[in-house]
Order: sequence, then structure tokens, then C-alpha cells
Amino acid sequence: MSTTAPRIQVLLPLPAGGPYDYQYNFGGEDLAVGHYVAVPFAGRTEHGVVWALGSASDLPDAKIKTVTQKFDMPPMTAALRHLVAWLADYTLQPLGNILKLALPTGDVFTPPKRKVKEWLFTSPVPDHLPAALTPAQATARAAITATLGTFQTFLLDGVTGSGKTEVYFEAAADVLRPENNGSGQALLLLPEIALTQQMTARFAQRFGAPPALWHSGLTPAQRRENWLAIQRGEARMVIGARSALFLPFPKLGLIIVDEEHDPSYKQDDSVSYHARDVAVMRAKQESCPCLLVSATPSVETIVNAEREKYTLLHLPVRYAGAQMPTLNLIDLRKDTPPRQQWLSPTLRDVITKNLAAGEQTLLFLNRRGYAPLMLCRACGARVTCRNCSSWMVLHKSENLLRCHHCGRKEALPRQCKHCQAEDKFAPSGPGVERVAEEVTALWPDARITILSSDHEKTLAQNLQHLADHKLDIVIGTQLLAKGHHFPNLTLVGVVDGDLGLQGADPRASERTYQLLHQVSGRAGRAELPGQVFIQTHQPEHPVLQALLRGDRNGFLQMEISTRQAAGLPPFGRLAAIILAAHKEEWLHNICNDFARTAPKAEGIRILGPAPASMSKIRGQYRMRFIMMGPPNVKLQPLLRDWLRHLPRTRALRVQVDIDPQQFG
Ligand code: ADP
Ligand code: ZN
Repeated sequence: MSTTAPRIQVLLPLPAGGPYDYQYNFGGEDLAVGHYVAVPFAGRTEHGVVWALGSASDLPDAKIKTVTQKFDMPPMTAALRHLVAWLADYTLQPLGNILKLALPTGDVFTPPKRKVKEWLFTSPVPDHLPAALTPAQATARAAITATLGTFQTFLLDGVTGSGKTEVYFEAAADVLRPENNGSGQALLLLPEIALTQQMTARFAQRFGAPPALWHSGLTPAQRRENWLAIQRGEARMVIGARSALFLPFPKLGLIIVDEEHDPSYKQDDSVSYHARDVAVMRAKQESCPCLLVSATPSVETIVNAEREKYTLLHLPVRYAGAQMPTLNLIDLRKDTPPRQQWLSPTLRDVITKNLAAGEQTLLFLNRRGYAPLMLCRACGARVTCRNCSSWMVLHKSENLLRCHHCGRKEALPRQCKHCQAEDKFAPSGPGVERVAEEVTALWPDARITILSSDHEKTLAQNLQHLADHKLDIVIGTQLLAKGHHFPNLTLVGVVDGDLGLQGADPRASERTYQLLHQVSGRAGRAELPGQVFIQTHQPEHPVLQALLRGDRNGFLQMEISTRQAAGLPPFGRLAAIILAAHKEEWLHNICNDFARTAPKAEGIRILGPAPASMSKIRGQYRMRFIMMGPPNVKLQPLLRDWLRHLPRTRALRVQVDIDPQQFG
């Protein structure tokens, strides 16, 4: 009998998470790679995953701690372990930091006290799904279903209201059917939690029971219950935010990414990753199809479809002959609103008519609060945030100024810091609250509300009221642009169509096109035809002209050639490094030293140091570098070498962003 206990390496969900060597002794019972275990770590208990067998060090047994517990649950699958390892490598993050995404809570290791609920689809699929897909829908569904069990990426491209959702519902149902191996799970990703509610209801209606949800709005108890049910393979249909990509599915059969172009799929939290790319990689690891869905696909995805890396599925027309809305541009230079007001005479006119017809109106303005800035009328100075390089936004409903970057609030100042003038501050420009004020004054009898992330508590209720026609006019931010379906909404007014058109961001045009197209898609989705009016100072702008002509593909081709000419993704690779510190001069010195150590390799260009687009956030100054390279050169090894030249100190914050969405 061997005298030494077997050794393993355990990965812990911590930024410096190993893997670390441990030994174990469970009286003959073996541990395998993927098992979840509890181990002593820095004087406390941590939960982790067996990452490898054997030892990485030759320390004597006496120095190696012992695994305290092995959990009786299905081990982490090879597919998920490979995904974690791939993402760590791709984003230059420590493995443990990525494991955190896949092991979000220690709770799952404490058995629940009450009985776990019975999950839908533990038994065969209900068969009351409509067989009446249109021929185009049926073709798309059949193409997806034919690839179940193999990796393949699809782009489901179709105008808003063309029945894309119905197609992926049926494809998801096929994952559950006995003739397709029957026991799989399907994951639907949505870009915004606000969308999950409407989708859950629609889903429940179609399938006879609700799906399991996964997003930051769940309680710890719900998270645990859902995580465990997914791990046991009992929760078969999951709707989630991007973090759902790291759930422990034992038999994932299909991943759907709805609104695949949506910028919120890429957020810069602790790890900066693009959910669309991770979805494709997870599907590859799972050998299952991945379905990207959009009415305005991203340039990246369109190019992948053109190169036949992705299979294109197309739904060309709205379901049941519903018409696309008619689109009109309002030239604000001629059709000018009254002073300090924001709705032009033409827009007012059509709203009045729409109200008289008993139909609903959406006014879109992507600006929270009352006014985006406060201006001193004596000297022209603006109120800026003390911690950030941003203007303070007036929220009149709270009688406060708020910074939208650090969340700081302050009372309205009386005296200007620059010229000492008293009581000279005036709000400048419109936010949704200010437009709501104008609307209330113009149509005092209309039932109106504001929908934005500042009104989260009432959001679900208001969306329901909108669907039930208990509201006449809604003033909303981009929250409203996405996916929602309101049958009586026939008029969309875009208050400021120029927002987002200026700026040096390489994706500005694409974003604006997508957003305006998406908002327009809210109009006239049912029997009633819809109209869209976009107010602008530059009606000749190519983005607005493309929208007016309904020439999405022409617009995309134009964007593709611009990117190609500039060597921007997907025709080149891009990475950003942001260095941040409280001491400005020290940071500048670090940046200059760092610039001198930049890698010199064929085809690689380094831009910067330059102030980041937000040059100060929460009291930290921010500088950025951009690395550009040709598509056939991997940037990660170069970055890894380069980053070694930075001083290791807490005073310096380093953020690496592979495939940054913005240039700032
Ligand atoms: P999209 O996801 O492309 O915006 P949806 O799937 O939401 O479109 O479809 C738009 C509307 O048409 C929805 O009310 C949907 O239920 C309906 N619809 C689409 N396809 C069908 C179908 N084959 N049979 C019945 N209703 C359909
Ligand atoms: Zn701030």
C-alpha cells in the first residue's frame, strides 16, 4: 500500500486562483478532474474544481493541505472546463478569475432545506406547438434541427416582426424531442434583463411552463435552485443574460443569441468578454449549433456569413403581411420646435392625430434625466463631476444633479465656481424627463409615462400597461428599443436622431443605424401600420439616408469597406490597454516608459498613450493604448510580453480589453 496520499490540483474562483496542489484521502474513493471540492485556503474554506491530477510541485506531504470535502454532484464537464481555459487565455485573465464566472456562488454547495421544485420537461415535450410555420420559417428551423448534435453557427437574419422568435422557439423544442436524442437543454441569451419578463411569458404560453432564468436580478435562493436544476439536467430551457454562458449544462443542445448585435453583450465588468463570441465557443465545445439572431446583424457577423463561416438563414418579410413602418426625416433646421422645447411642429401634429385615432406613441430619446448638463448663463461654465471627466445630469424628479459614471449625487449649486455668479444655472438640452414635461403640457389628458433605467421599479408594470393599452404616450431610452412587441403602438418619434452620429468611434455609425432601426421596428407590428419620424439637423447624413431608403445591406457594405480600408475588425485585430491611477503625473510617466517598451513586430501598430474617452472616473485618471494588427497575427502573446514591463503596484490599475468595442 502506498504511504503517500494522492495529489491533485484545485482551481479556486479567486483572482489569484491557482490551480493549487492538495492531497486527499477519502478511504479509497478517487477524485477525478472536474469534481467540485472544498479545501482549506488562507485560513478559510474555499470551493473549487479539481483541475488536474497529480502534483505541480515537489513539496513534501507535510506542506500540502488536504481536501476537506468532495461534493456529490455531477463534475464540471470537459466542455465547460475548456471554455474557462480558453477564455482565460484569450482575455489574458488568471484562470481563477474566469472560474468565478462559472462558480458564481458558494451557496450551491449547501443543500437546500426545502424540497426542490419539479422542473418542466423532465418528461417528454408537450406537443402543442404550432406546425404552421411559414415556408421560410420552416426552412430555417429545419436547417437548424438538421445540425443538432454537431457544431454549426447560424445567422437568423430577418426584419423585426418576421417571426424569428417563432423559429427559434421551434428549434429549441426540437432539442427536446425524442427523435432528436430528446434529452438536451437549450439556452436563450437576451441582452437585457428587462426583456426576460416578456419573453418568459411568451415562452410559458408556447411551452406550457416557464423556463429557468439566469440573471443578476435573481435572489440567492433562486440562483442556487436554478443552478442545481441546470446541473442535474432537469431545467431544460434556460433564458439568461450573458453570465448564463457559464452554467453547468450537462447536455447543452442549442444556444440562441437574440439581438446578437446588441452592445450590452460586451460589457466591461471584471472580465471583458463578448457574449456572442463566448456563445460560439461554448457551442463548439458542446458540439451543438449556435444561432445568432438579429434584424440588424453586426458587421462582424455579416462578414462571417459572407465568408460562409456562418450559415445564413433569412426571413425577408414581416409575418402575416404586416407592413414595415414608413419612415420620415424631420429637418429641424426648417421644422423648428419653439425655444427651449424639443418637439417640432410636424411631430406634434402627427402625435395629436395618433392620439385622436386612439393609438399609442413612443418618443425615443437616449438620455436619462431632465437635462444632460447645467450651464452658467453668466460665464458658460458647466457643472462637472468632482470624480469624473463628465457633466452632472439634472434629475428634476429628485431635484438633484447626478453623475452617470460614478453615481455621485449633489444638490443644485447656487453659485458658479468659475465666475461666482449666483442663481445663474440653467438646464441645457433635453433628457426624457424634460420631454415628458413638454408632452404633459401639450396633451394634458394623455396617459403618459417615462421608461428608463432610472425607473426600474415600475418598469415591468409600465411595460405591461403599454402592452394593455393603458398608456397613450411613452417617453423612453434605449431600454425600449429592444425586442418588445406592442400591438397598438403605431407611431415612433425619435427626438434626437443626431445623437451618436458624431464622435470618432469606429462603430458609431453601425450603433446608430442599429438603434434607430430597432426603435423604428417598435411601430406597427400588428395589423395597424406604423410610422416613424426622426428629428435631425443633418438629414443628408449617410446613416439617416440609408434608414430612409430601407437600404440596410447597402449601409452594411459601406461600413464593411470603411473597416476594411482602415484595417479594423474583422479585417484586423484590436486590443486596448487602459492604465488608471489617482496620481495624474505619475500615470503619465508610467505611460511614457511603457510606450518605450512597446513590441515591435511586423504589421503591429501601437496608438497612444492618449487620454481614454472618459479620462477620469471615480477619481482615477485613465490613459489608453491601442494595439492593431493584421488578422493572421495573435495579439495575446505580444500583449503578455509587453505587460510584463508595467510596475506591479496597487496604485496602477491595468485593464486589458481584447476586441474593444470603442476606441476610448
Ligand atoms: P421577430 O422575432 O422576428 O420580431 P416574432 O417571432 O415576434 O418576430 O413574430 C412577430 C409576430 O408574428 C408575433 O406576434 C408572432 O407570434 C407572430 N408569428 C410569427 N410567425 C408566426 C407563425 N408561423 N404562426 C403564427 N404567428 C406567427
Ligand atoms: Zn462622477
